[in-house]
Amino acid sequence: MSPLAERYRAIGSALPQGVELLAVSKGRPAAMVRELYGLGQRRFGESRLQEAVAKQQELADLPGIEWHFIGRLQANKVRPVLQAFPIIQAVDSLALAQRISRIAAELNLCPQLYLQLKLRPDANKGGFERAELEQHWEVLQALPSLQWHGVMLIPPLALSGEPLQQLFAEVVELADQLQLPGRSMGMSGDWPLAAAHGSTMVRVGGALFGRD
Ligand SMILES: *Cc1c(COP(=O)(O)O)cnc(C)c1O
Repeated sequence: MSPLAERYRAIGSALPQGVELLAVSKGRPAAMVRELYGLGQRRFGESRLQEAVAKQQELADLPGIEWHFIGRLQANKVRPVLQAFPIIQAVDSLALAQRISRIAAELNLCPQLYLQLKLRPDANKGGFERAELEQHWEVLQALPSLQWHGVMLIPPLALSGEPLQQLFAEVVELADQLQLPGRSMGMSGDWPLAAAHGSTMVRVGGALFGRD
């Protein structure tokens, strides 16, 4: 078995039932995506448009592959991202959601979306704070041509252990309040903790593909 296949099997056997794996393939060659597809993996996450589109073209022969855009989405990239990705995970502002809605309607698409949360101060990241989300939720829900599927979290780098667990619990509570089924949280460093504390989808890059 290749090292990639070994890591894939190890993660798969440690993931609790009901928690999906998003293989974060940004910066990785199409051949590795193809190998994982051959082992049964279908969901892949990318954060750079050009790189992703090139990979998608190379892998166009793989039916049922599911591409998630997980990067920060700039306003001028909304149209091409919608054309390439049925699922967008990092919707981090009302203005972005409104723009996605307008362009999705024009393109006759209905993307699946995740709201990026920022429940702790974090200068490096976008996302909705709780009060802001509660304030805008009605407007967000009413935007046409969108399917709100869940929330997504990128925790502050410094957080671990009990405080991180507490943050995961708050994400679960907020998702329940909004009646959103998806909770995308957990990355290479914290996916076991996230999976044990309410994640429905862990997004794993380095721990799956290897660190280079
Ligand atoms: C890169 C990335 C990941 C994966 O990170 P690893 O630490 O390599 O597992 C997960 N989520 C987002 C939003 C990312 O940009």
